[in-house]
Amino acid sequence: MIATTANPLLAGKGLPPFDQIRPEHVVPAMTELLAKATDALTHLETNTKPTWEGLIEPLEALTEPVFWAWGVVNHLMGVKNSPELREAQEAMQPEVVKFGMRVSQSKPLYDGYKAIRNSADWGTLSEAQQRIIESSIREAELAGVGLEGERRDRFNEIQLELANLSTQFSNNLLDETKAFSLTLTQPSEVEGLPPTLLAQAAQAARAAGAEAATPEAGPWRITLDMPSYLPFMQHSRRRDLRETLYRAYITRASSGEHDNQPIIERILTLRKEMAGILGFGSYAELSLASKMAPSVDAVEHLLESLRGSSYAAAQQDLAALKEFARSHGAPEAEDFQPWDSAFWSERMREEKYALNAEELRPYFPLEQVLDGLFGLAKRIFGIVITPADGEAPVWHPDVRYFRVSDEDGGAIAYFYLDPYSRPAEKRGGAWMDFAINRKRYVEAGVSKVRLPVAYLVCNQSPPVDGKPSLMNFYEVETLFHEFGHGLQHMLTTVDYSGAAGINNVEWDAVELPSQFMENWCYDRATLFSLAKHYQTGEPLPETFYQRLLAARNFMSGSAMLRQIHFSLLDIELHHRYVPGGAETPKDVRDRLAKTTTVLPPLPEDAFLCSFGHIFGGGYAAGYYSYKWAEVLSADAFSAFEEAGLDNEAAVAETGRRFRNTVLSLGGSKHPMEVFKAFRGREPDTEPLLRHNGLAA
Ligand SMILES: [Zn+2]
Repeated sequence: MIATTANPLLAGKGLPPFDQIRPEHVVPAMTELLAKATDALTHLETNTKPTWEGLIEPLEALTEPVFWAWGVVNHLMGVKNSPELREAQEAMQPEVVKFGMRVSQSKPLYDGYKAIRNSADWGTLSEAQQRIIESSIREAELAGVGLEGERRDRFNEIQLELANLSTQFSNNLLDETKAFSLTLTQPSEVEGLPPTLLAQAAQAARAAGAEAATPEAGPWRITLDMPSYLPFMQHSRRRDLRETLYRAYITRASSGEHDNQPIIERILTLRKEMAGILGFGSYAELSLASKMAPSVDAVEHLLESLRGSSYAAAQQDLAALKEFARSHGAPEAEDFQPWDSAFWSERMREEKYALNAEELRPYFPLEQVLDGLFGLAKRIFGIVITPADGEAPVWHPDVRYFRVSDEDGGAIAYFYLDPYSRPAEKRGGAWMDFAINRKRYVEAGVSKVRLPVAYLVCNQSPPVDGKPSLMNFYEVETLFHEFGHGLQHMLTTVDYSGAAGINNVEWDAVELPSQFMENWCYDRATLFSLAKHYQTGEPLPETFYQRLLAARNFMSGSAMLRQIHFSLLDIELHHRYVPGGAETPKDVRDRLAKTTTVLPPLPEDAFLCSFGHIFGGGYAAGYYSYKWAEVLSADAFSAFEEAGLDNEAAVAETGRRFRNTVLSLGGSKHPMEVFKAFRGREPDTEPLLRHNGLAA
């Protein structure tokens, strides 16, 4: 008999052996790991000792192999997808979710955490340890662990109903988005549309049965999906068709069998009841209990201050658009409608900042951009990044592996970089995830550190025809963004994995390091260090740089006001709205629109019926997070501006302080304290407004 090969996913720790893992390993490995972990959990629940060593350490030891293996599976789902892998992942997903819920809702564990908090030893634990325990207590409480009897039953009932309602909301929206289409047959109807949209629309027509459809001769099928809807609104010269499409878009899921209005009402009612059961005054208060923002007041205060600064700018943007349309002889200048905004802003953008994304590519070959990025990391954080290809198995030959070292040369972290788009097996977008968390542990009496390892995944243009990968500016910004997340994961000095890196960081603070890094793409010294023509070596022309700066602030007042409108609406509905009261959710929206939009919504505008972030996703009473984190990141960058961006010594000193606070402390301290430790004061909105060209 031949010995069965060991299942590589059973390793449960270390660098994942990507060269050996195959989809058929997933089900047997996860089944075995879950069974072991569940047994160990049952044992721990009946033998909890209310100490760090007696509860938290064994809990981590028993859950880690499951989450390690599942992390590998999910990573592969994103970068090396296949029908076999998807099937295996789908088969195990419910089991893993069930296990995770059992851990977070365990009464014995919850009692154990509370006993630690009440014990005499509490004061001897580090702040990181205390925050890990407090988060576990809060997570359990928000999952209803403290409830008994009828209240517990009711709570569970609400949870179930809310999960179903949110799925129904998303399904209705999806169905209604799919239900509408505009089939165009005359060349006059597609005037202005770019070739990419024509090709996509012809393909959509073929998929819908018009087998002979071509990009040149049609028919063309335009739909309400964003990749079809948005370019149509931006480029179609047929105002009547823009109106038709716009009206269809804003009334999705607002009547008939897919009407989301009763669902919205029900969701808001249940969320309010659930918050009450858990002892909160509103659902917004419940949501903020686990976020950085201290109170609804603080959130509204911030939003109101940004509103005050962006409203006039948005009015000016609108006036400029109308004027621009007028100067081009467009009759709609006198009767400007919502279906005209996207079209005229695109025309204005083209004329003012004629900057073709393709023209920039030759200046941004990947290798050079990486050199520039790593040079910046050395300059401001004092870290050295060197290739370590071959030291870790990878899932694709294009994947790179890098070592991050301290100034003294000692390795402190590693990361994988998977840069190129591979549509057949790789998810779109870009992200950072962790492969291994930093942790201090004792082995044979010796204290050791497990170094963090990150995955950085982008989807940029691959090399073609012997040319290197040439990036557009958006791809450069995206790489900096994900690298910022990666830095927080890799430069952590926290010894407990539950609060190391991005772990245990409040989600309205998590985009601080990533958005912070994006700012450097506009810094002259940084940009010119990485932007050189890949063939001639000539630097980026100054005119291109000036246009990049100008384009950054194009219509920024309108963009900010739009985000403020959504954020305030979200908070109002989850804090003050009374279900069944005098106002409907739509009334609330129309009331807020008076002060947060410059082109008022049409009477039939049913935006809430498609506000998937808060009714179908996880952003309820959390939409403000986008702006909250942007204030933090802009203010953090302004510390460098104050120090003087061309003062090397000052930049290095400020950079070390950023590293020693934001990047190092991760989830071990409250983000406000971390921010204050870096900035010496609470966050200020001025830098964000200034960077957006909105400062008074
Ligand atoms: Zn991000």
